[in-house]
Amino acid sequence: MACHAINSVAEQRYYCGVYGILPPPTNLNMWLTNANSNGTSLTAVASTPMLKQMAANNLVAEVAAFYLLTTGHPLWAVAAVVLQYYPPDITYNYSENEDFYKYSDVISGIFYHELCHASHYSKVGSSYWLPYDLFILAHLGYGSNTDAGYGRVAISEAWAYSAAPKMTHQRYGIPTSIGESWLNRIEKYKPFVGTSEFTENYIPEGLMYDLTDGIGEMTPNGVVDLVSNYTLANCYNALDQDIVSVSAYKERFLAENGTSQYVPIIKLFESYGY
Ligand SMILES: [Zn+2]
Repeated sequence: MACHAINSVAEQRYYCGVYGILPPPTNLNMWLTNANSNGTSLTAVASTPMLKQMAANNLVAEVAAFYLLTTGHPLWAVAAVVLQYYPPDITYNYSENEDFYKYSDVISGIFYHELCHASHYSKVGSSYWLPYDLFILAHLGYGSNTDAGYGRVAISEAWAYSAAPKMTHQRYGIPTSIGESWLNRIEKYKPFVGTSEFTENYIPEGLMYDLTDGIGEMTPNGVVDLVSNYTLANCYNALDQDIVSVSAYKERFLAENGTSQYVPIIKLFESYGY
């Protein structure tokens, strides 16, 4: 898994060059965990807290409870000390479910997702990322669109959920372990109809992908995609430090990219609920 992580870092940096977006900071601390014989893992999820980059050692103890360490794990106390010295930027529990260690495309896709967050961090810095961490911490995950500050998470996750599948597709093509291309998977995402992978489906997964692909959707899913052929760099460039909601992102994207597809862009965002 360590080798796969190192390869994913190198690959994602390469794709950043291809797509014209900033790479993550160098020398990331990555915290990879696995379940012990009792099926208990030290870490609950994959995440990108960027704690080393922010030099936020004081946050480690706080985030440890959710992000980093499973209460009751026999190595909790040891790990808590280790993490004080090596605060993680990215975490990955590869025993989360069997797909997380079985299939290279799934594993790379998760690393690319987290590394695309780290690329976003390269653009917006610590003042943006600290509230992102604190939101995830306060809501033990993505929370909902009734929680104050959810817009920062919505737009940050929209980015990672759109950019990573493009990289995964470029790396693995077809066939995949999911029985369809990673691009088809993100294209089929249905906003706000309870079919998301997550109950927190306020996150407009695939929104930025729809800005970059051709017009239309594969299957009827409520998305109105008459927008075509913007680049991932166009999408990335609008992720400025002051953009903490999907609506603000929409305005910035329109301002930066002209208004030649003004009405289709408005309709696309609207169909995602924004
Ligand atoms: Zn994410």
